[in-house]
Amino acid sequence: MSHVAYQERGDVAVEADFVVVGTGAGGAAAAVTLARGGASVIMVEAGPWREPHDYAHSTYGAMRDMMDDWGSTITMGRALWPVVQARLVGGTTVINSAICVRTPEDIFLEWQRNHGVGDQAFMERMWRFQDQLEDDLCVAETAPESMGRSNELALRGDAAAGYDGHVIKRYAKGCLGSGQCLQGCRSMRKQSTNLNYVPEVLRRGGQLLSSAPAERIVFEGRRAVGVSGRFIHPQTRAKGARFVARARKGVVVAASVTHSPVLLRRSGLTHEAVGAGFRAHPGTGVFGVYDEPVDQNVGVTQGWASTRWREDGGLKLETLSIPMEMAISRLAGGGRAFMERVVGYRHLAMWVHALRARSVGTVRAGFGGKPIVRYGFDAYDMERFRGGMVRVAELHFAAGARAVIPGIHGLPYSLGPHELDILRQGPLDPRRYVAILSHLFGGCMMGRDERTSVCDARGKVHGRDALYVADASLMPDNIGVNPQHTIMSLAMIVAEGAMGVA
Ligand SMILES: Cc1cc2nc3c(=O)[nH]c(=O)nc-3n(C[C@H](O)[C@H](O)[C@H](O)COP(=O)(O)OP(=O)(O)OC[C@H]3O[C@@H](n4cnc5c(N)ncnc54)[C@H](O)[C@@H]3O)c2cc1C
Ligand code: SF4
Repeated sequence: MSHVAYQERGDVAVEADFVVVGTGAGGAAAAVTLARGGASVIMVEAGPWREPHDYAHSTYGAMRDMMDDWGSTITMGRALWPVVQARLVGGTTVINSAICVRTPEDIFLEWQRNHGVGDQAFMERMWRFQDQLEDDLCVAETAPESMGRSNELALRGDAAAGYDGHVIKRYAKGCLGSGQCLQGCRSMRKQSTNLNYVPEVLRRGGQLLSSAPAERIVFEGRRAVGVSGRFIHPQTRAKGARFVARARKGVVVAASVTHSPVLLRRSGLTHEAVGAGFRAHPGTGVFGVYDEPVDQNVGVTQGWASTRWREDGGLKLETLSIPMEMAISRLAGGGRAFMERVVGYRHLAMWVHALRARSVGTVRAGFGGKPIVRYGFDAYDMERFRGGMVRVAELHFAAGARAVIPGIHGLPYSLGPHELDILRQGPLDPRRYVAILSHLFGGCMMGRDERTSVCDARGKVHGRDALYVADASLMPDNIGVNPQHTIMSLAMIVAEGAMGVA
């Protein structure tokens, strides 16, 4: 059988040329590259298979059915910020906004300079894979008819304030602008990997074990020869039968920035570099309050962006429509005043920024194997983070907002156009801010120096044979743009290397 879902009893043993752990951006891209190259592939995925028509309608349902541990992973540091990732076939591509950005050239130059990886040939190969991904995953600029008012207002603000923004390109085919990307696209317009690469691998003779978290990599001497674990029931989380997936040619780990280092450590790779170098793009939003109805739940989830301050300030600005229940969690107060704010949802536009933070953290295994992310945030990052909120607020006012709601503890609930100095001088304590980490990097960093990195430039784990990493954990730095395109093309390079393509 090509897809083995949760099994309560009866141990499962399967074998192929390659075992790929994880079916998100990196895992699916690696698996399809291996399958297209003629290799047989077993994909081992911790989460269940979910059909798009079964995706939950609510944020609560998405957290229950799609998020890793209900989205309960948080940074352990001065601030407890959520680290958001998905756990189902298709990984985080199922719940993301499908924004596609090519890797900027300066990133490769930095990787070369700081880590000895990413030379000219590597860069050109990455971009060739990015051409292919754009074809495979129907990348297109958001069409005017699916933009919605929030994105149109951002374009208006941009024209007035000169933010050099652009309409976002996305992995979506005929997007209907239903603003549901973060709960999974029920209309199957978003090209998450459960709709394309995973089924293609199965069509090419591959196998999938779902609800099957790999617990350990199996070694014979230095050589990785498979993974083992136990099925987990997708609703009750009860442990089921054991499984072993054996690999004749190699094991490719793509379980995400938080889970890949933990899996490696649990499998005996206790080198200091495993789990080091965790980086992120922490982000937060500012509501604009408009006289006209915005109806942010109508229109594409994210349709406008500006990277004008990427190199100077490390900022990326975007629109982000969030559903009502998520928006309400950001509104303060109680009783009648709170209900009036809730009723005002129709007039709110949420725009966000994400910061290319320089702060670095670690990932380690905690109780029961749950990843623990230790991540502080220094004053320099905090100043730029606050500065990003000011830029977002200014854009709202340029677009005609009557007020902004910054959501910073200790500051007034809303600020008018002449009160922005209050935000400019806002606190620098991260605990006062509501932020989220959705773009993650590092933990199994590639690099030339075996003392400070886990893998080489082709994702092969130093000191082990037939063991590779092919997800965001490979990235030795954060990149200041949306990472899916970089992760997928990197995973394709790793897969080619594992097959012996020079
Ligand atoms: C809300 C949100 C919006 C985003 N929007 C965008 C966007 O618009 N554009 C963009 O470029 N990026 C976006 N991102 C980031 C992007 O989705 C991620 O960077 C990317 O998916 C990471 O790829 P990955 O392969 O490293 O991990 P994932 O895609 O998370 O895949 C990891 C997979 O491994 C599985 N797994 C974990 N542990 C195990 C185990 N032990 N055994 C087996 N399987 C395991 C997980 O269940 C998961 O399926 C967004 C992220 C979030 C959270
Ligand atoms: S906006 Fe709606 S239709 Fe478009 S990709 Fe997202 S969920 Fe799908």
